Amino acid sequence: MRILLAAAAFAALAAAPAFAQERSAEELAFREIYRELVEIDTSPSTGNCTRAAEAMAVRLRAAGFPESDLRVIVPEGRPDDGNLVAVIRGTSRRSLLLLAHIDVVDAKPEDWARDPFTLVEENGFFYGRGSADDKSMAAVFADMFINMRRENYRPRRTIRLALTCGEETSNRINGVDYILNHHREWIQADFAINEGAGGVLTEDGRPLMFNIQAGEKIHQVYTLEVTNPGGHSSRPVPENAIYHLARALDRVSDLTFPTELNPVTRAFFERMAPIVGGETGAAMARLSANPNDAQAAEFLSRDPSYNAMLRTTCVATQIDAGHAPNALPQRALATLSCRVMQSTTPEAVRDALAAAIDNPNVNVEIVRRRDGSSPPQLTREIMAPVERAVEALWPGTPIVPTMTVGATDGRFLNNAGIPTYGMSGVFAVPGEANAHGLNENVRVDSLYRAREFLNRIVRDYAR
Ligand SMILES: [Zn+2]
Repeated sequence: MRILLAAAAFAALAAAPAFAQERSAEELAFREIYRELVEIDTSPSTGNCTRAAEAMAVRLRAAGFPESDLRVIVPEGRPDDGNLVAVIRGTSRRSLLLLAHIDVVDAKPEDWARDPFTLVEENGFFYGRGSADDKSMAAVFADMFINMRRENYRPRRTIRLALTCGEETSNRINGVDYILNHHREWIQADFAINEGAGGVLTEDGRPLMFNIQAGEKIHQVYTLEVTNPGGHSSRPVPENAIYHLARALDRVSDLTFPTELNPVTRAFFERMAPIVGGETGAAMARLSANPNDAQAAEFLSRDPSYNAMLRTTCVATQIDAGHAPNALPQRALATLSCRVMQSTTPEAVRDALAAAIDNPNVNVEIVRRRDGSSPPQLTREIMAPVERAVEALWPGTPIVPTMTVGATDGRFLNNAGIPTYGMSGVFAVPGEANAHGLNENVRVDSLYRAREFLNRIVRDYAR
């Protein structure tokens, strides 16, 4: 995933977990799968997803999966962008999809303290590119499938697995999108479990909350463009493309979209209120009780993480203007990155931008339009197994629904009508995992416990 949610409120450096535990043979077998996945470089510059997909296929075959129940799907003309799909067939018509991406962000070995493509276990942490994002979940799901097959597990609900490429970077074929368009039967399901949220630990390593992600904002890209005939810079005229654009951007910087709560964000603020406490907690309680409480919304909007959950946001990210130091600019262009709430259309945001700018010389355009869908519902069917597993593994820990203000592959599935929930069960101190950054890591104990969590809920859903 691309954005850590509401991390600001808890960001801190944590003490390392105290001691190593004895691991069972099953846990060590899982660790070996995880090690293999982390050690296959799947980054876009130097790596290959197909190798990782094939490696997992070899393991599934060895566990007894027939060829009819697994497949490595390689997009045509893209030999490095392979994906693995597999199925454990149930006795009912119900189905569930387990999704994890196997591609990772580039990692420059010379910048890392340890080799990014060697799994290192040190002081209670696993280090390596993808150790958290998202090879932790990919390894848990592969291991789960292997064990289910070995024990001849016959669930009522069909369980599907997709380990996909292309989540992290746009220069790879997105596996979820590709499979939906070409081999949809392999991932069709009543609902899906994906990355997108884990658990939050306090600085001293106690579980603070369990997060379940339901829904994402929609990333839309807009441009503001001004063109005019230009001319010699020795003879300035008022109609200057750069000045028009600068005034337009100034207006955009003052534009605040209205607060919009949905069932997920409302539940988020309600559950967070007692956890956060103080003035912020009180504002959360007021807002969740009354979504029209403008004062509470204004107070919470001062925190960038909460602000992003409360409304559509647009921010200037790139600018390009003029063509010579001695010429009047003929063209000035700015790019805006807008994160749009699900109930708002891209066109409505464009119209709001144009109205705020209020200058016919500035052309506002949608350059990347993505469809959105309302957040999936946190039904009893979804929540009951989660509540049971959380109570067993982290007794008393509150469950807090979240909406992702960035994006995961869940958006493709949600748009395709497959409600997708983000829950890894991996607990960390906010900011600690450093996904996408240097020395990415996951707590050893957190990973083994997440494995236990995911096994419990999948078997509970599949009963
Ligand atoms: Zn990810």
